[in-house]
Amino acid sequence: MRYHTHIMTSLAVGACIASQTSLPFTVSYAAGIVIGSLIPDIDEPNSYVGRRSLGMANKVKQAFGHRGMTHSLLVWAVIAIVLLIQSPSLFSYGFIIGYLLHIIEDFFSVQGVPLFWPFLTKRYKSIVTYRTAGLLERVIYYISFGMFVYIAVSRDLFSEFTQSVIVFLQTTIQRLM
Ligand SMILES: [Zn+2]
Repeated sequence: MRYHTHIMTSLAVGACIASQTSLPFTVSYAAGIVIGSLIPDIDEPNSYVGRRSLGMANKVKQAFGHRGMTHSLLVWAVIAIVLLIQSPSLFSYGFIIGYLLHIIEDFFSVQGVPLFWPFLTKRYKSIVTYRTAGLLERVIYYISFGMFVYIAVSRDLFSEFTQSVIVFLQTTIQRLM
């Protein structure tokens, strides 16, 4: 899955989660989702984050291979527990959700993911799969986009989001002054 599809599908599901729970759809929550939905591909030098990782992607890929360690549910669980204990913030919640969704999204790809690495190196995939950059992926992108806009408008997430951007800017300016 290409990076913009990861971002869009994760944002759509993240907005859905926010509208069904007490989690507010703020700028930190959304940023957490976007970053979390991209970070697992840090093990692929040619990916969107890989190209911006200052050489780190090459090292991770050499050590663990693409779609190895970073696409494991167990690694995700460890990261989630550490974040929840160390910094339980809206950004962390978004990051944990975005990261998990990335693994689920890749589970539906032809290549599959090693869900139980390091205990099992087998790659698991869904019965129904999509090809990276294929027609189905494009359809998924547009459906997610529509779903995101629908939830954001019907649940009024935009005003919540704008409010949080204003607060964010205010605190940043206050800190700088
Ligand atoms: Zn991936």
